Amino acid sequence: MKVLKFGGTSVGSSKNINKVINILTNYSKTDSVVCVVSAVGGITDKLLVAGDLAKNKDEDFNEAFKTIKEIHISIVKELIPTKNEPIISYVQEKLNELKSLLDGIFLINELSPKTSDKLVSFGELLSSFIIAETMKSRDISAERKNSQDIVVTNSNFTKAEVDYKITDKNILEYFKSAKERITILPGFVSRSKSGEQTTLGRGGSDFTAAIIAAALNVTQLEIWTDVSGMFTTNPKLVKQAYPIEKISYQEAMELSHFGAKVLYPPTVQPVLDLNIPIHIKNTLDPEAIGTIISNKDAHSTSPVKGISNINNIALLTLQGSGMIGIPGFSRRLFETLSQEKINVIMITQASSEHSICLGIEEKDAHAAKAAIDTTFENEIELHKIDPIIVERDLSIIALVGDNMKNHQGISGKMFSTLGKNNINIRAIAQGASEKNISAVILQCDVKKALNTLHEQFFEI
Ligand code: ADP
Ligand code: MG
Repeated sequence: MKVLKFGGTSVGSSKNINKVINILTNYSKTDSVVCVVSAVGGITDKLLVAGDLAKNKDEDFNEAFKTIKEIHISIVKELIPTKNEPIISYVQEKLNELKSLLDGIFLINELSPKTSDKLVSFGELLSSFIIAETMKSRDISAERKNSQDIVVTNSNFTKAEVDYKITDKNILEYFKSAKERITILPGFVSRSKSGEQTTLGRGGSDFTAAIIAAALNVTQLEIWTDVSGMFTTNPKLVKQAYPIEKISYQEAMELSHFGAKVLYPPTVQPVLDLNIPIHIKNTLDPEAIGTIISNKDAHSTSPVKGISNINNIALLTLQGSGMIGIPGFSRRLFETLSQEKINVIMITQASSEHSICLGIEEKDAHAAKAAIDTTFENEIELHKIDPIIVERDLSIIALVGDNMKNHQGISGKMFSTLGKNNINIRAIAQGASEKNISAVILQCDVKKALNTLHEQFFEI
């Protein structure tokens, strides 16, 4: 059995969906195939925008809905030009449900995480249905199974946690008796034990595929996307970037943690535990060899394996002469952020312990500052700590490689390269494992930084 996942671009147009169908049909000649799909490219964002407009009593949500509707209807018409009425009418029915949900949001002026999950689920539910029906209309042995009947989670809406015990059992049971050669499932969507629709968090389609691959203990998980593998750095920003043939799980996780979104980090866990390799492949160029992520032969001699970047970062600085004396300071700081569900991407502490810097997503900066200032209200009043300083429009860039720890002077080379190119560094952090070195720079310098670092570490 093979498990494949196709991302948004791969199912973003009828032309690309036809490529996906070709790949699946070829595979199914020799094996049964499990295929997890994302929403049609861009639809998840469009659904969220429509929901937001409706919540804010903005009638433009109708326009946003119309765009979503037209994209899906035209894909169906292009894929199944004849005898498509039953399929169109099912899609239409789903779209009507979506419209009712948006009308409801508009009416009550509210979009809770629970409703948001219901809203975004339409993306994957529609794409998986359309792809499966297209295949059936071409007499390909395919069936669609709704992951919401299989993947069971808690009720932590928008980022639900999987109950593996129930989910694995469901997966094994279903595939034991699946009759068709190809099964299409929506990624990202799931259901709570009490039956509410939940989702696995952004990028969660990769995760769905990994959960299934692990439960079925297949020999390999394939992630099909719009580039030919995991590149030495973001190929959209650096022309000279090239695909990495083999990379370790650790390196892939570090690179994706720091922004190489070709892989969604938690994805790796279920397959990592079982040592199942992940093969990244390009739907638009199926012959390209892609990248193998595994722990076998992944350790090349080159110390730096890749360079990644995350944009839209804010840096919070806490400082003050009384900081060391505050009981439970770090615990209170991190508890505050965790209560606000704010994800800390990097932490650096000056050796003097008089200041600590946190890199977080810019969208969380306002809430983070308010919450931390409240937690330490007394200490700020007593001038033990200064009010939090927030800097915006920043990016994190990171060098990643399992082998970096055995090589002297990598960070020196990194910082002198940035310095020589007049790139101002706001903060620096090195993972305890020495598998990454990261720096916070101005977002406007990212392209230059990536290009000069790539040249320094990969083009000589
Ligand atoms: P999908 O919709 O298939 O999941 P994503 O957009 O999530 O695709 O991820 C693929 C994109 O990741 C690429 O188009 C590329 O722009 C971006 N990317 C960033 N860094 C890297 C990298 N180091 N290697 C490959 N792709 C990268
Ligand atoms: Mg992705």
